[in-house]
Amino acid sequence: MVSAWFEIALWKRIFAALILGAIVGMIWGPGSDSIAWVGTLFVRLIRMIVVPLVFVTLISGVVSMGDPNKLGSLGVKTLAIYMVTTLAAITIGLILAVILQPGVGVDFSATAPEQVQVAIPLSERLMSIVPHNPIAVLAEGNMLAIIFFALLVGVSLLTIGEKGKPVADLMESSSEMMLRITHWIMEVAPFGVFALIASVAGTQGIGALLDVILLAVAVLIGSAAHLFIVHGLIIIKLTLKLSPIMFFRGARDAMLVAFSTSSSSATLPVSMSVAEENLGIRPIIASTVLPLGATINMDGTALYVGIVSVFAAQAFGIDLAFSDYVLIAGSTTLVSIGTAAVPGASLFLIAAVTQTIGMSPEQTAIVIGFILPFDRPLDMLRTAVNIGGDLSVSTAVANWENEFDKNIFEKPINS
Ligand code: ASP
Repeated sequence: MVSAWFEIALWKRIFAALILGAIVGMIWGPGSDSIAWVGTLFVRLIRMIVVPLVFVTLISGVVSMGDPNKLGSLGVKTLAIYMVTTLAAITIGLILAVILQPGVGVDFSATAPEQVQVAIPLSERLMSIVPHNPIAVLAEGNMLAIIFFALLVGVSLLTIGEKGKPVADLMESSSEMMLRITHWIMEVAPFGVFALIASVAGTQGIGALLDVILLAVAVLIGSAAHLFIVHGLIIIKLTLKLSPIMFFRGARDAMLVAFSTSSSSATLPVSMSVAEENLGIRPIIASTVLPLGATINMDGTALYVGIVSVFAAQAFGIDLAFSDYVLIAGSTTLVSIGTAAVPGASLFLIAAVTQTIGMSPEQTAIVIGFILPFDRPLDMLRTAVNIGGDLSVSTAVANWENEFDKNIFEKPINS
């Protein structure tokens, strides 16, 4: 029986757990919260591996690149395409919000305001990329600072040649070790996913979603359009001349885990492993582009924040001019870069966007209070889009940098 279990492809086990979890949660109701700990355990396991995995794989990735100059071109391409895809997501979100008008006629009278959160200024975020203490940032899990320090270590190893070999070898075998642990943790995913979904479905109820149905529909259509048109069609098919079906098949484990955990950072180890093993992205790209993406590239979040801001303006009867949409797009880009890769993070930051169109903090607090009870299912969706976007961009950068193995991308996975 045990071997029969392992013979079933992992994504099928995770997918079945997801459906089963939703059914059990709906039948069991709030009682399903009693198994939430299994999900928490799973999330803790994957979070446990994030910092050591990123740190050692990034260093060994840079070393395997052999030439520090390559990093510059990689960095520029990555940041540029992350920016372009984020803007595409916001545009889709804004167009849908204008067409579907999810906020028109919404009644806030029974809503208790929620606390709004002030976004950390961009200058402060940029400054914190340079760690005051590398050990402290490793302990805190400050991803951008970890990336910065690991890049320095990697480049320094390259420049000292033979003398750096013992450390470079150590990093390489440490990467293998971390990836092995990631595989073991992935085997816990079906149980974790089952418990996470059951407790969400049981405590929040899918029916609750009915109150914000138009908003949910806009987020759903927007997410699908962004994933399939921008990433599947424009990037994977037309730009890279690859099969979108193969891409989504390779990415699905990571997208399912993102959907169930609602956290890009917790999904990172899984994204890195599917990138290398299913999508043919070589370690140098997977270990640099993906951690950066999990931190700053959030297409689903950008799409969502754009829709919610227009929703809020519509609900309060604020007329938006074209210049307001431009302002929303600009500030949403910054918010999506600054959003922490954890569940529910972006909703509390929408104040940074709504204030640019003249909404008061009190009004924003009411909007957040209104959406909060339904945010989780929407967060699941946007996080899956965030991860899908990171993987598609990584596939593109890997192709452009000749760090892509088409045989792996096209090899049949045990489907
Ligand atoms: N949950 C999202 C993520 O981790 C962030 C957000 O939009 O709240 O990617």
